[in-house]
Amino acid sequence: MDNAATTQIDPEALEAMLPYLKEEYGNASSIYSLGQRGREAIDKAREQVAGFLNCQPSEIVFTGSATESDNLAIFGIVRAAQAKGIKPHIITSQIEHHAVIESCEKLEKQGVEVTYLPVGREGVVKVEDVEKAIKENTILVSIMYANNEIGAIQPIAQIGALLKKMNQGRKQKIYFHTDAVQAVNYLPCDAQELGVDLFTLSAHKIYGPKGVGVLYIKQGTVIEPIILGGGHEWGIRSGTENVVGIVGLGAAIAEIKKQQSQNVAISKLRDRLLDGIIERIPDIQINGSREFRLVNNINVSFKGAEGEALVIALDQEGIAASTGSACSSGSLDPSHVLLALGLSHQQAHGSLRLTLGKNTTEQEIDQALEVLPKVVERLRKVSGYKKI
Ligand code: PLP
Repeated sequence: MDNAATTQIDPEALEAMLPYLKEEYGNASSIYSLGQRGREAIDKAREQVAGFLNCQPSEIVFTGSATESDNLAIFGIVRAAQAKGIKPHIITSQIEHHAVIESCEKLEKQGVEVTYLPVGREGVVKVEDVEKAIKENTILVSIMYANNEIGAIQPIAQIGALLKKMNQGRKQKIYFHTDAVQAVNYLPCDAQELGVDLFTLSAHKIYGPKGVGVLYIKQGTVIEPIILGGGHEWGIRSGTENVVGIVGLGAAIAEIKKQQSQNVAISKLRDRLLDGIIERIPDIQINGSREFRLVNNINVSFKGAEGEALVIALDQEGIAASTGSACSSGSLDPSHVLLALGLSHQQAHGSLRLTLGKNTTEQEIDQALEVLPKVVERLRKVSGYKKI
Protein backbone atom coordinates (compact mmCIF):
# COMPACT_ATOMS: atom_id res chain seq x y z
CA MET A 1 0.00 0.00 0.00
CA ASP A 2 2.83 2.32 -0.86
CA ASN A 3 2.46 2.79 -4.61
CA ALA A 4 3.30 6.50 -4.33
CA ALA A 5 6.80 5.46 -3.19
CA THR A 6 7.30 3.08 -6.08
CA THR A 7 5.47 0.55 -8.23
CA GLN A 8 5.99 -3.03 -9.32
CA ILE A 9 7.48 -3.25 -12.80
CA ASP A 10 5.00 -4.14 -15.56
CA PRO A 11 5.60 -7.51 -17.27
CA GLU A 12 5.48 -5.66 -20.62
CA ALA A 13 8.21 -3.24 -19.50
CA LEU A 14 10.38 -6.05 -18.15
CA GLU A 15 9.99 -8.05 -21.35
CA ALA A 16 10.96 -5.05 -23.48
CA MET A 17 14.03 -4.40 -21.32
CA LEU A 18 15.55 -7.88 -21.16
CA PRO A 19 17.37 -7.88 -24.55
CA TYR A 20 19.09 -4.60 -23.60
CA LEU A 21 20.43 -6.21 -20.42
CA LYS A 22 21.78 -9.12 -22.43
CA GLU A 23 22.97 -9.14 -26.02
CA GLU A 24 21.81 -5.63 -27.04
CA TYR A 25 24.28 -3.84 -24.79
CA GLY A 26 25.60 -1.29 -27.28
CA ASN A 27 26.37 2.33 -26.55
CA ALA A 28 23.75 4.34 -28.44
CA SER A 29 26.45 6.79 -29.57
CA SER A 30 28.47 4.09 -31.35
CA ILE A 31 28.09 4.17 -35.11
CA TYR A 32 28.26 0.40 -35.68
CA SER A 33 25.02 -1.59 -35.77
CA LEU A 34 25.05 -2.83 -32.14
CA GLY A 35 25.14 0.78 -30.98
CA GLN A 36 22.61 1.93 -33.56
CA ARG A 37 20.09 -0.69 -32.43
CA GLY A 38 20.35 0.91 -28.98
CA ARG A 39 19.78 4.32 -30.60
CA GLU A 40 16.68 2.99 -32.39
CA ALA A 41 15.33 1.65 -29.10
CA ILE A 42 15.78 5.09 -27.50
CA ASP A 43 14.10 6.76 -30.48
CA LYS A 44 11.12 4.42 -30.13
CA ALA A 45 10.81 5.18 -26.39
CA ARG A 46 11.08 8.89 -27.12
CA GLU A 47 8.17 8.58 -29.55
CA GLN A 48 6.15 6.64 -26.99
CA VAL A 49 6.66 9.39 -24.39
CA ALA A 50 5.99 12.15 -26.93
CA GLY A 51 2.78 10.40 -28.01
CA PHE A 52 1.65 10.26 -24.40
CA LEU A 53 2.39 13.94 -23.75
CA ASN A 54 1.18 15.09 -27.20
CA CYS A 55 4.47 16.77 -28.06
CA GLN A 56 7.39 16.35 -30.45
CA PRO A 57 10.02 13.64 -29.72
CA SER A 58 12.63 16.42 -29.89
CA GLU A 59 11.01 18.00 -26.82
CA ILE A 60 11.75 14.94 -24.64
CA VAL A 61 14.93 14.77 -22.54
CA PHE A 62 15.70 11.55 -20.69
CA THR A 63 17.31 12.01 -17.27
CA GLY A 64 18.40 9.81 -14.37
CA SER A 65 15.34 10.53 -12.17
CA ALA A 66 12.48 12.94 -11.61
CA THR A 67 14.67 14.56 -8.98
CA GLU A 68 17.17 15.36 -11.72
CA SER A 69 14.40 16.57 -14.05
CA ASP A 70 13.13 18.97 -11.35
CA ASN A 71 16.67 20.24 -10.70
CA LEU A 72 17.28 20.68 -14.43
CA ALA A 73 14.02 22.59 -14.92
CA ILE A 74 14.64 24.99 -12.04
CA PHE A 75 18.41 25.57 -12.17
CA GLY A 76 18.37 25.42 -15.98
CA ILE A 77 15.74 28.14 -16.41
CA VAL A 78 17.23 30.35 -13.68
CA ARG A 79 20.78 30.11 -15.03
CA ALA A 80 19.64 30.91 -18.57
CA ALA A 81 17.83 34.01 -17.28
CA GLN A 82 20.83 35.06 -15.20
CA ALA A 83 23.02 34.70 -18.28
CA LYS A 84 20.78 37.34 -19.89
CA GLY A 85 21.39 39.67 -16.91
CA ILE A 86 17.98 39.11 -15.28
CA LYS A 87 17.67 38.95 -11.46
CA PRO A 88 15.06 36.19 -11.37
CA HIS A 89 11.96 35.57 -9.28
CA ILE A 90 10.40 32.09 -8.99
CA ILE A 91 6.92 31.11 -7.79
CA THR A 92 6.36 27.69 -6.27
CA SER A 93 4.19 26.19 -3.51
CA GLN A 94 4.77 25.18 0.10
CA ILE A 95 3.92 21.54 -0.63
CA GLU A 96 6.32 20.71 -3.46
CA HIS A 97 8.51 17.61 -3.40
CA HIS A 98 11.94 18.12 -1.83
CA ALA A 99 13.48 18.00 -5.32
CA VAL A 100 11.74 21.32 -6.07
CA ILE A 101 11.76 22.91 -2.59
CA GLU A 102 15.46 22.25 -1.98
CA SER A 103 16.39 23.55 -5.44
CA CYS A 104 14.45 26.75 -4.77
CA GLU A 105 15.97 27.13 -1.29
CA LYS A 106 19.45 26.70 -2.70
CA LEU A 107 18.79 29.41 -5.29
CA GLU A 108 17.29 31.66 -2.61
CA LYS A 109 20.57 31.44 -0.68
CA GLN A 110 22.27 32.60 -3.87
CA GLY A 111 20.08 35.69 -4.11
CA VAL A 112 17.19 34.46 -6.27
CA GLU A 113 13.76 35.66 -5.10
CA VAL A 114 11.31 32.83 -4.35
CA THR A 115 7.61 32.96 -3.41
CA TYR A 116 6.24 29.82 -1.71
CA LEU A 117 2.45 29.91 -2.17
CA PRO A 118 0.23 28.65 0.67
CA VAL A 119 -2.31 25.90 0.03
CA GLY A 120 -4.85 26.11 2.87
CA ARG A 121 -6.55 23.17 4.58
CA GLU A 122 -7.40 21.45 1.29
CA GLY A 123 -3.83 21.44 0.06
CA VAL A 124 -4.68 23.18 -3.20
CA VAL A 125 -2.95 26.25 -4.68
CA LYS A 126 -5.30 29.08 -5.71
CA VAL A 127 -4.92 30.36 -9.27
CA GLU A 128 -5.50 33.94 -8.08
CA ASP A 129 -2.59 33.56 -5.63
CA VAL A 130 -0.35 32.68 -8.58
CA GLU A 131 -1.59 35.77 -10.42
CA LYS A 132 -1.01 38.04 -7.40
CA ALA A 133 2.52 36.70 -6.88
CA ILE A 134 3.71 37.50 -10.42
CA LYS A 135 6.32 40.26 -10.61
CA GLU A 136 8.14 41.93 -13.44
CA ASN A 137 11.16 39.65 -12.93
CA THR A 138 9.17 36.39 -12.54
CA ILE A 139 10.69 33.84 -14.90
CA LEU A 140 9.35 30.54 -13.61
CA VAL A 141 6.26 29.07 -11.93
CA SER A 142 6.81 25.53 -10.64
CA ILE A 143 3.71 23.87 -9.21
CA MET A 144 3.29 20.11 -8.88
CA TYR A 145 0.36 18.38 -10.65
CA ALA A 146 -0.53 16.15 -7.69
CA ASN A 147 1.03 16.00 -4.26
CA ASN A 148 2.90 12.86 -3.24
CA GLU A 149 1.72 12.84 0.39
CA ILE A 150 -1.91 13.89 0.30
CA GLY A 151 -2.70 13.32 -3.39
CA ALA A 152 -4.03 16.88 -3.73
CA ILE A 153 -4.55 17.74 -7.41
CA GLN A 154 -3.45 21.24 -8.40
CA PRO A 155 -5.20 23.39 -11.05
CA ILE A 156 -2.41 23.03 -13.63
CA ALA A 157 -4.48 23.68 -16.78
CA GLN A 158 -5.95 26.83 -15.18
CA ILE A 159 -2.50 28.10 -14.16
CA GLY A 160 -1.27 27.29 -17.67
CA ALA A 161 -4.11 29.37 -19.16
CA LEU A 162 -3.38 32.24 -16.76
CA LEU A 163 0.30 32.29 -17.69
CA LYS A 164 -0.51 32.17 -21.39
CA LYS A 165 -2.58 35.32 -20.90
CA MET A 166 0.03 37.01 -18.68
CA ASN A 167 2.81 36.22 -21.16
CA GLN A 168 1.15 38.20 -23.95
CA GLY A 169 3.24 41.26 -24.65
CA ARG A 170 5.58 40.48 -21.76
CA LYS A 171 9.28 41.12 -22.28
CA GLN A 172 10.48 38.24 -20.12
CA LYS A 173 8.46 35.03 -20.56
CA ILE A 174 7.25 33.25 -17.44
CA TYR A 175 7.96 29.56 -17.95
CA PHE A 176 5.65 26.98 -16.39
CA HIS A 177 7.03 23.77 -14.89
CA THR A 178 5.00 21.00 -13.31
CA ASP A 179 6.30 18.01 -11.37
CA ALA A 180 3.73 15.47 -12.57
CA VAL A 181 5.37 12.38 -11.05
CA GLN A 182 2.31 11.35 -9.03
CA ALA A 183 -0.25 12.43 -11.63
CA VAL A 184 0.87 10.55 -14.73
CA ASN A 185 -1.00 7.31 -13.91
CA TYR A 186 -4.26 9.08 -13.23
CA LEU A 187 -4.69 12.51 -14.82
CA PRO A 188 -4.75 13.94 -18.39
CA CYS A 189 -1.19 14.66 -19.51
CA ASP A 190 -1.53 16.56 -22.77
CA ALA A 191 1.24 19.17 -22.56
CA GLN A 192 -0.60 21.50 -24.96
CA GLU A 193 -3.85 21.37 -23.01
CA LEU A 194 -2.05 21.87 -19.71
CA GLY A 195 -0.14 24.83 -21.13
CA VAL A 196 3.16 23.78 -19.58
CA ASP A 197 6.69 24.46 -20.84
CA LEU A 198 8.38 21.88 -18.62
CA PHE A 199 6.94 18.62 -17.30
CA THR A 200 8.66 16.10 -15.02
CA LEU A 201 7.89 12.39 -14.79
CA SER A 202 9.54 9.32 -13.31
CA ALA A 203 9.57 5.76 -14.69
CA HIS A 204 9.42 3.91 -11.38
CA LYS A 205 6.13 5.55 -10.36
CA ILE A 206 4.43 4.28 -13.53
CA TYR A 207 5.38 0.59 -13.32
CA GLY A 208 8.71 1.13 -15.06
CA PRO A 209 12.30 0.78 -13.78
CA LYS A 210 14.03 2.98 -11.19
CA GLY A 211 16.65 5.51 -12.21
CA VAL A 212 15.02 7.03 -15.30
CA GLY A 213 13.14 10.29 -15.59
CA VAL A 214 11.87 12.62 -18.28
CA LEU A 215 11.85 16.36 -18.61
CA TYR A 216 9.58 17.62 -21.38
CA ILE A 217 11.00 20.93 -22.58
CA LYS A 218 8.76 22.88 -24.95
CA GLN A 219 10.48 23.94 -28.14
CA GLY A 220 11.92 27.45 -27.85
CA THR A 221 12.46 27.26 -24.06
CA VAL A 222 15.76 28.86 -23.13
CA ILE A 223 17.46 26.52 -20.65
CA GLU A 224 21.02 25.82 -19.53
CA PRO A 225 22.22 22.24 -18.95
CA ILE A 226 23.26 21.33 -15.40
CA ILE A 227 25.28 18.26 -16.41
CA LEU A 228 28.00 18.88 -18.97
CA GLY A 229 29.92 16.35 -21.01
CA GLY A 230 29.49 14.52 -24.30
CA GLY A 231 26.44 16.49 -25.45
CA HIS A 232 23.84 13.71 -25.20
CA GLU A 233 20.12 14.53 -25.21
CA TRP A 234 20.51 17.59 -27.46
CA GLY A 235 23.30 18.84 -25.20
CA ILE A 236 20.80 19.34 -22.35
CA ARG A 237 21.79 16.24 -20.40
CA SER A 238 25.15 14.65 -21.05
CA GLY A 239 25.93 11.08 -20.01
CA THR A 240 25.69 7.78 -21.90
CA GLU A 241 21.99 6.98 -22.23
CA ASN A 242 20.50 4.33 -19.94
CA VAL A 243 19.14 2.36 -22.90
CA VAL A 244 17.55 -0.42 -20.85
CA GLY A 245 15.89 2.03 -18.46
CA ILE A 246 14.64 4.25 -21.26
CA VAL A 247 13.18 1.23 -23.10
CA GLY A 248 11.39 0.21 -19.87
CA LEU A 249 10.04 3.72 -19.43
CA GLY A 250 8.71 3.79 -23.00
CA ALA A 251 6.97 0.42 -22.57
CA ALA A 252 5.52 1.46 -19.19
CA ILE A 253 4.12 4.72 -20.52
CA ALA A 254 2.53 2.88 -23.44
CA GLU A 255 0.60 0.79 -20.89
CA ILE A 256 -0.93 3.77 -19.08
CA LYS A 257 -3.82 4.31 -21.50
CA LYS A 258 -4.98 0.73 -20.89
CA GLN A 259 -4.68 1.27 -17.17
CA GLN A 260 -6.77 4.43 -17.04
CA SER A 261 -9.95 2.38 -17.32
CA GLN A 262 -8.83 0.86 -14.01
CA ASN A 263 -8.97 4.21 -12.25
CA VAL A 264 -12.61 3.65 -11.33
CA ALA A 265 -11.75 0.28 -9.83
CA ILE A 266 -8.85 1.77 -7.85
CA SER A 267 -11.01 4.60 -6.53
CA LYS A 268 -13.68 2.10 -5.43
CA LEU A 269 -11.08 0.12 -3.49
CA ARG A 270 -9.69 3.33 -1.99
CA ASP A 271 -13.16 4.45 -0.89
CA ARG A 272 -13.88 1.06 0.65
CA LEU A 273 -10.64 1.26 2.60
CA LEU A 274 -11.24 4.84 3.71
CA ASP A 275 -14.87 4.24 4.71
CA GLY A 276 -13.76 1.13 6.61
CA ILE A 277 -11.11 3.10 8.50
CA ILE A 278 -13.62 5.84 9.39
CA GLU A 279 -16.12 3.23 10.55
CA ARG A 280 -13.70 1.20 12.65
CA ILE A 281 -11.29 3.74 14.16
CA PRO A 282 -12.37 6.75 16.27
CA ASP A 283 -10.51 10.07 16.58
CA ILE A 284 -8.99 10.28 13.12
CA GLN A 285 -8.54 13.08 10.67
CA ILE A 286 -8.41 12.87 6.88
CA ASN A 287 -5.66 15.12 5.56
CA GLY A 288 -6.15 17.08 2.35
CA SER A 289 -8.96 17.59 -0.10
CA ARG A 290 -11.58 14.93 -0.66
CA GLU A 291 -12.68 16.42 -3.96
CA PHE A 292 -9.34 17.26 -5.60
CA ARG A 293 -7.55 14.06 -4.75
CA LEU A 294 -5.81 11.28 -6.66
CA VAL A 295 -7.94 8.13 -6.79
CA ASN A 296 -5.28 6.01 -5.11
CA ASN A 297 -4.42 8.16 -2.07
CA ILE A 298 -5.40 8.07 1.60
CA ASN A 299 -3.67 10.24 4.19
CA VAL A 300 -5.01 10.06 7.69
CA SER A 301 -3.85 11.11 11.16
CA PHE A 302 -4.64 8.95 14.18
CA LYS A 303 -4.73 10.79 17.50
CA GLY A 304 -2.38 9.14 20.00
CA ALA A 305 -0.57 6.94 17.45
CA GLU A 306 2.76 7.96 15.99
CA GLY A 307 3.27 7.62 12.22
CA GLU A 308 6.57 5.81 12.24
CA ALA A 309 5.39 3.34 14.89
CA LEU A 310 2.33 2.66 12.71
CA VAL A 311 4.50 1.94 9.68
CA ILE A 312 6.73 -0.46 11.65
CA ALA A 313 3.77 -2.26 13.22
CA LEU A 314 2.02 -2.59 9.84
CA ASP A 315 5.20 -3.95 8.30
CA GLN A 316 5.24 -6.68 10.92
CA GLU A 317 1.79 -7.65 9.65
CA GLY A 318 2.96 -7.69 6.03
CA ILE A 319 1.62 -4.28 5.01
CA ALA A 320 3.92 -1.66 3.45
CA ALA A 321 2.76 1.91 4.15
CA SER A 322 4.29 5.31 4.63
CA THR A 323 4.21 8.25 7.02
CA GLY A 324 4.69 11.96 6.57
CA SER A 325 6.90 12.32 9.62
CA ALA A 326 10.56 12.26 8.82
CA CYS A 327 11.83 10.46 11.95
CA SER A 328 13.34 7.73 9.81
CA SER A 329 15.70 10.23 8.21
CA GLY A 330 17.05 11.13 11.63
CA SER A 331 15.06 14.36 11.91
CA LEU A 332 12.03 14.88 14.11
CA ASP A 333 10.58 17.42 11.71
CA PRO A 334 7.08 16.51 10.62
CA SER A 335 6.09 16.71 6.96
CA HIS A 336 6.24 20.23 5.49
CA VAL A 337 3.15 19.29 3.48
CA LEU A 338 1.01 18.50 6.52
CA LEU A 339 2.25 21.61 8.33
CA ALA A 340 1.27 23.68 5.28
CA LEU A 341 -2.28 22.31 5.66
CA GLY A 342 -2.31 23.81 9.15
CA LEU A 343 -1.88 20.57 11.11
CA SER A 344 -0.15 20.75 14.49
CA HIS A 345 3.21 18.99 14.89
CA GLN A 346 1.45 16.28 16.89
CA GLN A 347 -1.24 15.70 14.25
CA ALA A 348 1.38 15.63 11.51
CA HIS A 349 3.41 13.04 13.44
CA GLY A 350 0.40 10.73 13.60
CA SER A 351 -0.11 10.58 9.85
CA LEU A 352 -0.27 7.47 7.71
CA ARG A 353 -0.24 7.40 3.90
CA LEU A 354 -1.79 4.45 2.09
CA THR A 355 -1.47 4.53 -1.69
CA LEU A 356 -3.07 1.87 -3.86
CA GLY A 357 -2.09 0.81 -7.35
CA LYS A 358 -3.40 -1.16 -10.28
CA ASN A 359 -2.26 -4.42 -8.68
CA THR A 360 -4.00 -3.80 -5.33
CA THR A 361 -6.59 -6.51 -4.61
CA GLU A 362 -9.85 -6.72 -2.61
CA GLN A 363 -8.11 -9.18 -0.29
CA GLU A 364 -5.39 -6.65 0.49
CA ILE A 365 -8.04 -4.06 1.41
CA ASP A 366 -9.73 -6.63 3.70
CA GLN A 367 -6.38 -7.44 5.29
CA ALA A 368 -5.61 -3.75 5.91
CA LEU A 369 -9.05 -3.22 7.44
CA GLU A 370 -8.51 -6.15 9.75
CA VAL A 371 -4.98 -5.22 10.83
CA LEU A 372 -5.07 -1.40 11.06
CA PRO A 373 -7.69 -0.99 13.84
CA LYS A 374 -5.79 -3.49 16.04
CA VAL A 375 -2.44 -1.79 15.40
CA VAL A 376 -3.84 1.68 16.17
CA GLU A 377 -5.49 0.41 19.35
CA ARG A 378 -2.25 -1.22 20.52
CA LEU A 379 -0.19 1.92 19.89
CA ARG A 380 -2.80 4.11 21.55
CA LYS A 381 -2.64 1.97 24.71
CA VAL A 382 1.13 2.47 24.85
CA SER A 383 0.87 6.24 24.28
CA GLY A 384 -1.70 6.70 27.04
CA TYR A 385 -4.31 8.05 24.60
CA LYS A 386 -7.73 8.60 26.12
CA LYS A 387 -10.88 8.61 24.01
CA ILE A 388 -12.82 11.86 24.31
N1 PLP B 1 8.49 14.41 -7.36
C1 PLP B 1 7.49 13.78 -6.74
C2 PLP B 1 6.16 14.44 -6.61
C3 PLP B 1 7.69 12.50 -6.20
O1 PLP B 1 6.71 11.87 -5.57
C4 PLP B 1 8.97 11.91 -6.33
C5 PLP B 1 9.26 10.60 -5.72
O2 PLP B 1 8.92 10.35 -4.58
C6 PLP B 1 9.97 12.61 -7.01
C7 PLP B 1 9.70 13.87 -7.52
C8 PLP B 1 11.34 12.05 -7.21
O3 PLP B 1 11.32 11.01 -8.15
P1 PLP B 1 12.61 10.11 -8.43
O4 PLP B 1 12.55 9.00 -7.44
O5 PLP B 1 12.48 9.63 -9.84
O6 PLP B 1 13.79 10.98 -8.23
